[in-house]
Amino acid sequence: MRSEQWQKMTVPQLQKLAQELKAEKNCYIIAHNYQDVAVQQIADFVGDGLQMAIKAAETDADKIFVCSIKIMAETTKILNQEKTVLMSHATADCRLANMQSPAELQKLKAKHPGAEVICYVNSPATLKAQSSITCTSSNAVDIVGAMPRDIPLIFVPDRNLAAWASYKNDRPLITFDSFCYVHHQITLEQVLALRRMHPNHTLLVHPECRLEVCKEADMVCSTSQMIDFVATHDNVIIGTEIGLYNQLKYRYPEKNLVPMSMAMSCEDMKKTTLRGAVKALYEEAYPITVPDDIGRKTIDSLNRMFSVVQAL
Ligand code: SF4
Repeated sequence: MRSEQWQKMTVPQLQKLAQELKAEKNCYIIAHNYQDVAVQQIADFVGDGLQMAIKAAETDADKIFVCSIKIMAETTKILNQEKTVLMSHATADCRLANMQSPAELQKLKAKHPGAEVICYVNSPATLKAQSSITCTSSNAVDIVGAMPRDIPLIFVPDRNLAAWASYKNDRPLITFDSFCYVHHQITLEQVLALRRMHPNHTLLVHPECRLEVCKEADMVCSTSQMIDFVATHDNVIIGTEIGLYNQLKYRYPEKNLVPMSMAMSCEDMKKTTLRGAVKALYEEAYPITVPDDIGRKTIDSLNRMFSVVQAL
């Protein structure tokens, strides 16, 4: 198809074409919670990074098309090695994940011999592969709590999630200086002002926010936990990337939901547009590969997390 033809297509036409391509290519589409609603509407499953990869493993489809960022497509590929995994955009990735390099983790490990490494799932596979155990935003506090007290812990890459897990467990963590610019930008003053404006709202905050913001929240939770909470509650402030607020507002137009800030938009998540995604699917433009040894080590780290969570 020529580029003028792509430009002329309307949203319903693009969404119809996505459904046709999905059937023709025997493809399963997954989209992240932070994607635009129009992109989420072409997906078979919408969720957080790890949920998407796990859900994709349940399908018989030959191909998986990931509307998200590179690190999440990598995790999908690692858990679906026999399938073709395709990305929705060539350069969409996570700034937090790539703020410090895997070589910097090697240096940190050399400086703290004997330390166990906990790696947040929002990280490149090359970082996860160097860790003893992975964690998510919903289980980071529990994973830190489950580690033996007499062993030093390195927690990478997000310093804010590390600070929250450290605070909740009253335990020091050695960490990177990396942070998510989308969540880190929110200050305590902004949150207190929101509280004054919406005194009857429940404040939900993602743990990638600063520690002082998390301490002020009614609940510190992952995007999936926010979705579950809003399903049964009204009057809620959504303290994470704006895509989740848009998704919830679309699902529950009658509810009184407030975004923590309209400025909480992740540039990389928003690189995927409906038009760009359908074109990338049509062309199968961006296949994802992960070296076998990195994949194997990452699976070990993920499996350790699954068994710790199961035992909790
Ligand atoms: S919102 Fe933050 S953590 Fe999520 S993809 Fe964007 S930069 Fe990475």
